Amino acid sequence: MSSPKKATKTTSSASVLTRLGLTSQMDLVLHFPLRYEDETRVMPIARARAGQSVQIEAEVTHSEVLFRPRRQLVATVRDDSGQIQLRWLNFYPSQREQMQSGKRWRIRGEVRHGFHTLEMVHPKVSVCNAPLSTTLTAIYPSADGLGQKQIANAVRKAIDSTTLDEVVSAEFYEPLGLMPFARAVHILHAPTPAENLDALESRTHPAWVRVKFDELLAQQLSLATARYARHHRQAIPLKAPVPPQVSLTEQLMAQLAFTLTNAQTRCLDQIHHDMTLNYPMHRLLQGDVGSGKTIVAMLAALRAVENGKQAAIMAPTEILSEQLFQKFHQWSELVGLRCVWLYGALGARQKRETLAQIANGEAHLIVGTQALIQQGVAFHDLGLAIIDEQHRFGVMQRLTLSEKANIFPHQLSMSATPIPRTLAMTFFADLDVSVIDERPPGRTPIVTKLINQARRDEVIAGISNAIEEGGQIYWVCPLIEESETLELQTATLAFEMLQEALPHVRIGLVHGRLPAAQKSEVMRAFAEHELDLLVTTTVIEVGVDVPNAALMVIEDAQRFGLAQLHQLRGRVGRGERASICVLMFEEPLSKIARERLRAMYETDDGFKIAERDLQLRGPGEFLGARQSGLALLRFADYQADAYWVEQARALATKLLENHPESAQAHLDRWMPNRHSYLNG
Ligand code: ADP
Ligand code: MG
Repeated sequence: MSSPKKATKTTSSASVLTRLGLTSQMDLVLHFPLRYEDETRVMPIARARAGQSVQIEAEVTHSEVLFRPRRQLVATVRDDSGQIQLRWLNFYPSQREQMQSGKRWRIRGEVRHGFHTLEMVHPKVSVCNAPLSTTLTAIYPSADGLGQKQIANAVRKAIDSTTLDEVVSAEFYEPLGLMPFARAVHILHAPTPAENLDALESRTHPAWVRVKFDELLAQQLSLATARYARHHRQAIPLKAPVPPQVSLTEQLMAQLAFTLTNAQTRCLDQIHHDMTLNYPMHRLLQGDVGSGKTIVAMLAALRAVENGKQAAIMAPTEILSEQLFQKFHQWSELVGLRCVWLYGALGARQKRETLAQIANGEAHLIVGTQALIQQGVAFHDLGLAIIDEQHRFGVMQRLTLSEKANIFPHQLSMSATPIPRTLAMTFFADLDVSVIDERPPGRTPIVTKLINQARRDEVIAGISNAIEEGGQIYWVCPLIEESETLELQTATLAFEMLQEALPHVRIGLVHGRLPAAQKSEVMRAFAEHELDLLVTTTVIEVGVDVPNAALMVIEDAQRFGLAQLHQLRGRVGRGERASICVLMFEEPLSKIARERLRAMYETDDGFKIAERDLQLRGPGEFLGARQSGLALLRFADYQADAYWVEQARALATKLLENHPESAQAHLDRWMPNRHSYLNG
């Protein structure tokens, strides 16, 4: 509730538009209210109930300025049915004037329980004889200090100046039982009192359903368009060699110490199949941490190589790219291929040589970070681009790589962050998904313990025991989002504290500020058990593989996101040792933090974790929308509206096949600023 302000005289629609962060008149039309106020009728005071927003007409019977507990204006008003108290904690002399006994006013506000009677705090007061509004009053999302009146005026002008005619023939909407667009718009902005207010506010009203459906339709259309565009791009089909020639894939598999799980085999078959097509593969290989995605990627890369092409493999950080390189390099040697690693600290001469090998085709497999796509690396003939830990890359980076080749390379992304099915269908319709839903045999489940930070000494004693038994340990320091410097300090302190507490233990420290060469030296030492305990910031987050490390301690676990905790925990449970993940937390815990820790305690199934994460955070944040630039749904809810997602998908297909102009017109209405990410 605000004190009365001087009304801003006029605000142009254009200015309202920019201040709301919108760009077109249609955006304003689609700027729908959050809720409504009913100013269409006057209610007898006796019928007003606490919690209701009501409008009354009444006469002032008494008013005074009280000074206790603080200065305030209090008035009593009555109508034929009863009386109610009004209260202002800030007021102008003019309002005191208004509240003189004997004056009659139309008054509206929210009714609540006062000390003795019902009351309204800071009600709106206007003259009695003004005609009553015929429609409910929309309350809009506002921004930048814009008043409701200014927004409402701009919206009204936008509705009048924009065509709301159907752009997709009504014959498609009728069988779905959806009302016309124009009608939905009018109802949502200015419902008559006859409309069901509850349904409007809970967004289940048929007018809302129509709008949500249109939004979903636009999204499905744009995704289907992207898929269509991809299917019409050229890629080189990469086929298995004809027997009796033995494929590189088979040659490598014969030399591995393990056999692929059924899930790995199934995913590899799907990938290999996509690679035989003459348009670029766009597949996501999803599998929980430790499910064995790397070997699948290698076997896919071999298919490219035996077709005379190169494969590039990218990781989000240099440490991870080094780990990938070690594996790919080792496997490459088994089948007589050359694998190179392009990394930051490479000397100038070596770098030139490596780049030359990439350019002349001597290098079959190229491992690196984003540097591969950012520094204009020229490939001889790139057939397959593999992106590990795909969720850590921005969408634009994925695009740049694709555009490196004249003919588009096939593309395989890998992620340990499971995308729930409904979400995948809604947002990634142009992404085929393979899931490794089985862990390699012989893994022991990870036991997760929640321990109050106050019991740190017990945790340190536990560490000491584990080390005596030959185990290795990760100690993860808190994530400090607001300051990298602070994060570093905390890690250094933890390192010193542990050195002091465990003088006989070989302890290493790795953090984001460490030069790359030192970082990988520490990682190597830990991997080769020259260190027992690794103190680390979240640089350890993904992909690191040290099977002997079976205990992880995460400090201030309440500061981490659920997906991140799950990723971290996936560093243990990779070998034969029984693994433990200790989540230390500090009280008081927020409700969400408590839920996250509970989820971690209850399950180590990545899909369940992802679903919980989604519930706790909502899809926008889940997808890291801001960083990836993905347009998310404003009105529809991927879960609650799953039925409409299906319907929209079916209609999108129909329109693109038979009525492309309608499809285009619908996209223009809903997504005038579509970005090329859709083609990524
Ligand atoms: P992620 O899916 O998290 O990238 P990795 O590919 O790093 O997992 O695999 C984790 C570990 O499991 C590695 O040490 C890898 O060699 C091993 N591994 C992969 N597949 C199998 C399998 N089928 N049987 C046994 N071990 C496997
Ligand atoms: Mg991995």
